[in-house]
Amino acid sequence: MSNQPYSFFHSVEKSFDKAAQFTHWEKGLLEQIKACNSIYSMRFPVRMDDGRIEVIEAYRVQHSQHKMPCKGGIRFSHKVDQDEVMALASLMTYKCAIVNVPFGGAKGGIKISPRKHSAYELEKITRRYTSELVKKNFIGPGIDVPAPDYGTGEREMAWIVDTYQSLKPGEIDAAGCVTGKPISLGGVRGRKEATGLGVFYGIREVCNMPDVMEKLGLSTGIEGKRVVIQGLGNVGYHCAKFFREHGALVVCIAEQEGAIFKADGINEELLFQQRKSTGTIIGYPGSIALAKNTDALELECDILIPAALENVIDAQNAPNVKAKIIGEAANGPLTPEADDILIARNILVVPDMYLNAGGVTVSYFEWLKNLSHVRYGRMEKRFNENMNHHMLSQMEKLTGKSVLPEERRLIEHGADEVDLVYSGLEETMINATREIMDVWQANPAIPDMRTAAYVCAINKVGTSYAEMGIFP
Ligand code: NAD
Repeated sequence: MSNQPYSFFHSVEKSFDKAAQFTHWEKGLLEQIKACNSIYSMRFPVRMDDGRIEVIEAYRVQHSQHKMPCKGGIRFSHKVDQDEVMALASLMTYKCAIVNVPFGGAKGGIKISPRKHSAYELEKITRRYTSELVKKNFIGPGIDVPAPDYGTGEREMAWIVDTYQSLKPGEIDAAGCVTGKPISLGGVRGRKEATGLGVFYGIREVCNMPDVMEKLGLSTGIEGKRVVIQGLGNVGYHCAKFFREHGALVVCIAEQEGAIFKADGINEELLFQQRKSTGTIIGYPGSIALAKNTDALELECDILIPAALENVIDAQNAPNVKAKIIGEAANGPLTPEADDILIARNILVVPDMYLNAGGVTVSYFEWLKNLSHVRYGRMEKRFNENMNHHMLSQMEKLTGKSVLPEERRLIEHGADEVDLVYSGLEETMINATREIMDVWQANPAIPDMRTAAYVCAINKVGTSYAEMGIFP
């Protein structure tokens, strides 16, 4: 465990305990669900470009094997320690359970600052880490499947799959040993925007619930809702895109250098291009700049999406938040104190643990694609297009009327990989939202949606254990 007084793992255990009292599982089973089953702490030497040998500290934690394989990202950060990896691995178990992704939770971490290393050094570290995982049977398409996280991306996943395949020659499903790979190495289309799109689907479903909206004093639907987004990175950008495309007004976006407001809505792509060329979001045509970037969090709006950092809403600014709904796109954007204040103020917090699960959901689709060795849509796309064309022609012939060319294109279109990935993600987020709300509505003593999400996760993992017959 960490030497630091604050333990992230302990705070996850506290949230778990808060929710566990609303379940019927016996104490021993709850202890089993909470515990991290396997913790691999490793040290290995790597020779750096300047000739020095550096001892690298790294971890892989498998929190739960109630479903196999385990799944969770690998983080490269100088802040990595065992406590953090344990906490993140547990959250992965609960996250996967909520969105019905049939994996146990895991997480990996290497304690390095990626910016302080050359690409060559990073490659050596990543490949050595992978071979350490292989040695201990801590990676494999049926064992444990890593993915990108903070400080890692497609490049690192490509090194991992290549190292794994070279150590396991002939393993037919080897591409499924890691997700978040480049498309050419077995990645899936739609992964990049998955988290932002999942956030949109989750919030849209909440906004479509008349009773929930009535309690918040809002009308149903996304159209016309005023949205504030903190962070124009991968998640924030895609949130802004999908909310705008579905008729919401993204009235404010905050970044490191400041925040801008425009009552009739901001176009994220134009803003992104402006920031790329000028280095700032300030000066976006027709917008006004707020005094501080954190003012965005306190702006009058319907939906606030923190999509940048953790702990941005705390006991100080929580009393000033004016949004009716907070969608936690980032991991841990609220402190526990802020959470309590917002619950008391009847602000709906849609929790990170399920709302930002789009990434892991699409990773699951990538893994399925790797095991089936065929791109989604390859077998049926052309067949469906031919059949749709035939049906439409018959209808036109029988009615004597013809369909507009734009409508014809839409109706005849057979699903591509990206269409199927979006559809699977939409289904997943809608179901997860409804399941959590059902749990919450069934027990009015549950104080908030986060606790309801935990209850949902505990019940699913508990059922798996119970049905295995371990705890008759
Ligand atoms: P990112 O690095 O692409 O984007 C983060 C953005 O936040 C950057 O543009 C950065 O400049 C901005 N930012 C930093 N400090 C800021 C500040 N003080 N005010 C406003 N903006 C600030 O990262 P990301 O992938 O978009 O991840 C964002 C959050 O979402 C993180 O908490 C991450 O853990 C979480 N998340 C990401 C994914 C994913 O698939 N990328 C999945 C689940 C959760």
